[in-house]
Amino acid sequence: YFVAPEQFGEQYIEITGQDAHHITKVMRQKPGDAFIVSDGVSREALVQLDVIEDKAVRAIIVEHRTLDREPAMQVAIAQSLPKGDKMELIIQKCTEIGAVAFVPFVSERTVVQYDAKKEAKRMERWGKIAKEAAEQSHRNLVPSIERALSWKELLQSIEAYDLALFCYENEQGTELRDVARPFVERRLADNQRAARVLIIVGPEGGFASREVEEIMQAGAKCVGLGRRILRAETAGMLALGCLLYESGEMG
Ligand code: SAM
Repeated sequence: YFVAPEQFGEQYIEITGQDAHHITKVMRQKPGDAFIVSDGVSREALVQLDVIEDKAVRAIIVEHRTLDREPAMQVAIAQSLPKGDKMELIIQKCTEIGAVAFVPFVSERTVVQYDAKKEAKRMERWGKIAKEAAEQSHRNLVPSIERALSWKELLQSIEAYDLALFCYENEQGTELRDVARPFVERRLADNQRAARVLIIVGPEGGFASREVEEIMQAGAKCVGLGRRILRAETAGMLALGCLLYESGEMG
């Protein structure tokens, strides 16, 4: 299963670069072999390998498909930059589950130093992980990786969403379900299946109390994910899974 956004024609597709290498050298596909290609948006096709060249392959489209595996609820994960390579795990797993975007941000207790010089390289690596995970899980869409936002920028971005869920381990009264269920019911009653939702997760050391106040003032809803303290990389995955489940998108 490949996502080949730029090479998707009506009768044939062309695949170049790493993907071409993967098809011929790793998967050892031969002319006549069939596989599925997506345009990375909404189209999908069963193709048959036709020509193998040095750095490109050409395949004939046998059948166009419009199988849509994307949830109507478009969920972005705003994650305070975690240490080490945890963001890679978050991108991989949340792509499989169904996130549409990743928004890294810097908050008071973010440990990782934001380095603008390394940004391009990191974005490239994260983009590659999202693409591979999207292919692996047969997504029609490769989630986008946004540039890292400052705390202030994150606060300003909240109004662009229909719902922003702020995951906070000290929230005692309101669970994710308490906000998600009525939200989904309201949207369905209004016949609005699509919705833009943001899940906000803190760094290893959590959020400062000033940040909790500011984000709620900006319009986010504070929710708990159970009585256990989850690692920064676990919280977003769990929240995303629960949210899509509540939205009726799973199964
Ligand atoms: N501040 C905490 C501490 O040091 O004990 C833990 C922070 S936790 C490792 C990292 C992030 O995961 C939090 O900022 C929050 O967004 C999310 N999180 C972890 N457990 C959670 C829970 N039970 N409910 C909601 N969010 C949770």
